[in-house]
This record gives sequence, structure tokens and C-alpha cells, in this order.
Amino acid sequence: MTQPFEPATGPPCAPPTTVLNLSLAGSEVGPILERALEGRETTIEEGTRLFEARGAELMPLMAAADHLRREAVGERVTYVVNRNINFTNVCVKRCGFCAFSRGHRAGEGYFLPMEEVVRRASEAWELGATEVCMQAGLPPGMDGWYYVDLVRTVKQALPGIHIHGCSPEEVLYGSQLAGVSVADYLAALKEAGLGSLPGTSAEILVDAVRDVISPGRITSAQWVELLQTAHRLGLPSTSTIMYGHLETSYHKAVHLHRLRALQKETGGITEFVPLGFIYEDAPMFQKRRPAGLRQGPTGIETMKMYAVSRIMLHGWIHNVQVSWVKEGPKLAQVGLMAGANDLGGTLINESISTAAGARHGQLLTPTVMRALAREMGRIPAERATDYRILRTFADPAADPEDLLAGVENADARFGSYGKLIGEQRFRFKDVYAQGKRPSPQLAGGSGQ
Ligand code: SF4
Repeated sequence: MTQPFEPATGPPCAPPTTVLNLSLAGSEVGPILERALEGRETTIEEGTRLFEARGAELMPLMAAADHLRREAVGERVTYVVNRNINFTNVCVKRCGFCAFSRGHRAGEGYFLPMEEVVRRASEAWELGATEVCMQAGLPPGMDGWYYVDLVRTVKQALPGIHIHGCSPEEVLYGSQLAGVSVADYLAALKEAGLGSLPGTSAEILVDAVRDVISPGRITSAQWVELLQTAHRLGLPSTSTIMYGHLETSYHKAVHLHRLRALQKETGGITEFVPLGFIYEDAPMFQKRRPAGLRQGPTGIETMKMYAVSRIMLHGWIHNVQVSWVKEGPKLAQVGLMAGANDLGGTLINESISTAAGARHGQLLTPTVMRALAREMGRIPAERATDYRILRTFADPAADPEDLLAGVENADARFGSYGKLIGEQRFRFKDVYAQGKRPSPQLAGGSGQ
């Protein structure tokens, strides 16, 4: 089958390694970094060793990653103006790290009707958003074609907006309920207007770890196969890792290797997003703590994640995103010195990390993002979901008006996760009680 994406090219040939002083890196890490800077691929074993870097090895590791970042994408720090819409928190699964999901009888279970999803997307569009990111729980009793109808409804209302949505887990769930192949389901999503998929539900692409932190979830082989199919159909995706729980350095290196292999094959991955485990309210921390569970990554572990991913993915996946929601803007900014180049989205609403205990809010305005980049001597730029540069902000004096910065109380204006789970009008069990299952009939959709 022909590939719809530009085939990814390998690393460009050797940049001058002399620009970096690797002597401090020592006899083990130094040669690995040197080979990476020469454009040679970092193996799983080498990546594992880099994840184990300590002491004097750390600064050269980050400097090498920063060097490769500059070579791959230059000095721009990008962001996308978007809105998250997590349209339900009701889910049939019980992932150990997920404090967001609720059972279908739970008082805090909510479900946003399609008209509310469209209203939220329209509000974001009017405030300059180019993307809406739609992911949610897996509600029981859902009509199998619900995701397709939801995408179609939003796209019909807002033809110009990019719909980034339907995680591999959701695509698998929808296709199983609809009784069609994953390929047919993805094709229907694309036809309805889906622009790209979030590469979430990857967690760690090592089943021995997945089986502990999220038993019953999509397997690593299914995840890879589903994205192979999506990419071949012309639907790009992001890619993620969730780390800082039970995984080892080796598991992280294996994960990066699998993503790199997928990208070599399809070229359909736009970015890599490391997501640190938020432990505070996670069920596997609060209720059934597995032996050896860590309390999320430390600051150094977070920096190593950005650095090693930049090094292992170099030449294949060009964009590494920091997560300001999980790390906060301060640590995210430092991550931009350790190999990352993208600040992610404005979000406007954020529920999943907030539910797990993240305390960094749900909106980061373009004004703040531009300031974070400029303070580092980098150049802020607004991008599209697919990393096309929409605007570069070289001159602060010429910055356009930031409509999001004008919002005084974001929680009051846009709603918050806390408000959503306490609000009566979107109660999931009421939707059930009224016989309004989350099916296309709910919004008058047609189904397929
Ligand atoms: S991570 Fe996703 S699939 Fe797992 S319980 Fe939470 S909402 Fe459900």
C-alpha cells in the first residue's frame, strides 16, 4: 500500500561534535552521545544507559539533546491554540493510573451532549482555536458509531477546525461495538472529518507493565497495529509515553524504539509527548498499590525523558512536546533546554490530569507561552496540529491581540472539571434514566 506521508528520512550526516564538550560525560555515556551526534542510531541498550545517567553525565546528555533539537527544528518554540473536550468520564475500564473515570452509576459521572460539545468547540473557534481535542472515557451502552457521528457533527458546525480525537483505545472500542474492522472504522472517522488521532493509551508499550497498570486495556501490539492502519489511511497521529510508575529505564528505551520503528514504516507520527504519571489521586496509588510504584517522575527523570527521547527519535520524530499541565510551566520551560521544542496546546479545559491531582490549571495563554520561549532566547510560533507554522512572533511589539489572555476567570467562563462532576444537567445516569443513551439519537444523528 502506498504511504500517504512523506517517508521519514534518516538523520542528516555528522554535525560537528566539537561544538559540545563531552569530556564530562564519562567513558560510558560520552561515546553514546558522540555516536548520536554523528547521526548514528541510538540502540535500546544505549538508550537504557542514557536513562541511567547521573551526576556529571547529566549536563552533557541534555546539551547533546538540545543540540539535536536545534539541528532538527531550529530555535522555534511552537504551540497550538486548542480546546480539550473530554465529553464523558464514564468508562467501562479501570486503569490503575486513571482518576478521571467513573462507573456509569456514579454520581460524578457526566456526559456532554453533542450540542454542548459543539458549543464548546464554537466558543474556542471564536477565541482563535484551530484545533479541538476530543477524548473521553468508554461509556457502556454506547452506539458503536457514536464517535463518527460526533466528529461529523462538530465538523459540519465548524468546517475550518481540525478535529484531533479518538484515541486508539476509543477507535478499538467503537469498531468493536459497531462490529466492523478497525480499518473500516478509521475510514469512517476520516470521512466524517477526523484530522488526526492522539497517540494516547500507549502508556508503556511493554505488556508486562501494561498488565499491571491497566489490565484489560488495548495491548501494545494492537496499539501499534491500529496506528499503522491509521497512518496508511492518511490519518496522522501523535505519540506518547506515560512514565514514572513501575517502568524501568529499559522499558522506556524499548518504548522509544517501538515508536521509532513505527515511524520508519509509516512516517505518520507528528510528535512525541512524554506524560509523567500523576500519582496523588490515582487508584493504583490510593487503593491497590503495586510493589515498587513510584510517585511520578522526579525533575531529573523528566529532563532525562525529554533528552533521551530527542536522542533516540532523532531523524524520525522531529517534535518533542513538554506537558505544562503535568509539569507546570516552570519545569516545562526547562524541558525546552533538554531536547523539547513544543509547548503543546492552550487546552482551555483539562480534566484528566486535573482529576489525578495536577495543580497547574487548565489554560496557558499564547501570551504566556510566547514569554516562556522568549525568555530563553527562542522564537515563539503558533503551529497547526500537523506542525505547519501558522505565525512566527519574532517581534514582541508586533504580537497580535490574545483573546484568551483577555479572559479574567477561565474556570468561570469555560467551566472546570470540578464543576462538571458536580453539575446536575450533564449527569450520565440521568441520561440513562431518561432513556437517552449516548447514541446518535441523542443528537438526532444518523448513525451508519
Ligand atoms: S485511562 Fe481511559 S480507558 Fe482507562 S479508565 Fe481512564 S478513561 Fe477509561
